[in-house]
Amino acid sequence: MSSNEPRSNFLRTQIQSDLDQGVVTDVVTRFPPEPNGYLHIGHAKSITVNFGLAEQFGGRCHLRFDDTNPEKESQEFIDSIQEDVRWLGYTWSGEVRYASSYFEQLYQWALYLIDQGLAYVCDLSAEQAREYRGSLTEPGKDSPYRNRTIEENRALFEQMRAGAFADGSKVLRAKIDMASPNINLRDPILYRIRKAEHHQTGNAWPIYPTYDYAHGQEDAIEGISHSICTLEFEDHRPLYDWFIANLPVPSKPRQFEFARLNTSYTVTSKRKLKALVDEGAVAGWDDPRMPTIAGLRRRGYPAAAIRHFCEEVGTSRSDSVVDVAMLESAVRNHLNQHAARAMCVLDPLRLVITNVDASEQLTLANHPSDDSLGSRSVEFGAELWIDRDDFREEANKKYKRLVIGKRVRLRGAYVIEADACDKGPDGRIDVVYARLIEGTLGEDPADGVKPKGVIHWVSCATGKTATVRLYDRLFTEANPGKAEDVMAVVNPMSLRQLDTAVIEAAAAEAAPETVFQFEREGYFVADRFDHRPDAPVFNLTIGLRDTWSAQDG
Ligand code: ATP
Ligand code: MG
Repeated sequence: MSSNEPRSNFLRTQIQSDLDQGVVTDVVTRFPPEPNGYLHIGHAKSITVNFGLAEQFGGRCHLRFDDTNPEKESQEFIDSIQEDVRWLGYTWSGEVRYASSYFEQLYQWALYLIDQGLAYVCDLSAEQAREYRGSLTEPGKDSPYRNRTIEENRALFEQMRAGAFADGSKVLRAKIDMASPNINLRDPILYRIRKAEHHQTGNAWPIYPTYDYAHGQEDAIEGISHSICTLEFEDHRPLYDWFIANLPVPSKPRQFEFARLNTSYTVTSKRKLKALVDEGAVAGWDDPRMPTIAGLRRRGYPAAAIRHFCEEVGTSRSDSVVDVAMLESAVRNHLNQHAARAMCVLDPLRLVITNVDASEQLTLANHPSDDSLGSRSVEFGAELWIDRDDFREEANKKYKRLVIGKRVRLRGAYVIEADACDKGPDGRIDVVYARLIEGTLGEDPADGVKPKGVIHWVSCATGKTATVRLYDRLFTEANPGKAEDVMAVVNPMSLRQLDTAVIEAAAAEAAPETVFQFEREGYFVADRFDHRPDAPVFNLTIGLRDTWSAQDG
């Protein structure tokens, strides 16, 4: 994907050494989301790690839905996840895979463990099981059901599978060691009874495997060489290995963990993201303020910038929080290079140029340094929109915009000098009157009186009214995940909508998802869903400068 040589990290080193030593011949990774929410920036990291490693080592990466919790999962999430992975620029190897398509094999392997005396049906209630489990400092106690015979376990488990028992009345557990210092090895649960309809398997299964039981075996079925997950699974690795060692699996995958990506001013807990959606703090999972991939996309963040950021933050085994300004800066750098320039007046004020009567077409470059972005024709005439912020009747020297009696350059056009303004009954300025200084298209004024600054403008005759949504960070706190109530730290100013902005006609015609640099204002994207040429809608992607770091001081 990137032409640069990838920086080394422990996963790349591991895989290279496995290949060198012949431990593996093919590198096969997988991205295994549970379809219980939209993917977020943390998942983007996992996607770039898994697909990136496969790509780097000429291997393959699978997309596998880890769909073992039917109640929380849905087709909507399955669809959005596939779309997000594709949008990020990756192609999974083969068909989309589902843990649920291995349910029969997993069930057979559970019977195999029973037959080996390595699994048993347990009738303890959830509460009793907790007591028997012990704690970090105390060993657990054997369940009174631990010594059921193989025959009895088999019969009971088959009845569980046939739907004979009520939800929660029994579980299947591995028989490992109730005194293990690792709680994950204290006879973990393999199957629960849950008479829930599944989005893929319907009502075929009244029992569902746990993540711990299912995951490694799914990897083994698919021939995954390196099963890469985040650090919270480190303590589960002995269990992962136990299953692989004790089952007749077709391959021997190994698990490797890396630190999750955490960014400041962001929550990535699916539960909290769902709460923001459900409680109406945002308009949906793909609201441009959401750290979801669908949200970032709708915000105008380019996939390439997200990938670049994920590479830049590195892959390690130490937890840290990355300043979200790093992501924003990756976006800004990418767009500075690639986004076409255009003009948009956010808060329009009418400017009348009294010595101009005919309109003319000016040709403006779309990018200051990349000619391949071409140029466009912009109408210039006697009546223009300028931004209300760019005019003052009087001002001190620091104000380098339009002032009565002073000059300014109109971007890509002429120098003008303001003469007067009209005000409404409320004292608000309605119109500014100015004169064009002849001979100043691309030239300094002949009289030597140079303008102090440059302002942007849009022709009143051809400009189009647009809706512009100005977004700010969704949270007021750098660590919103810490807040007891995530709703309490939502930034009330995170969205301000302008309905009377005016943009160049050419920008109105742009396809949805086109990003522009609106000169002097920032980067804006034509909304993926709401933008239409006759009713343009633009979202602020990111400002031209990082204003937050300045505030944080
Ligand atoms: P949960 O399991 O609580 O629903 P999850 O964030 O772990 O949430 P999954 O769908 O299981 O969601 O995640 C799919 C993959 O993405 C997993 O391998 C997980 O480790 C990885 N992942 C999730 N969040 C991050 C993160 N912040 N940084 C890096 N990888 C992540
Ligand atoms: Mg998970």
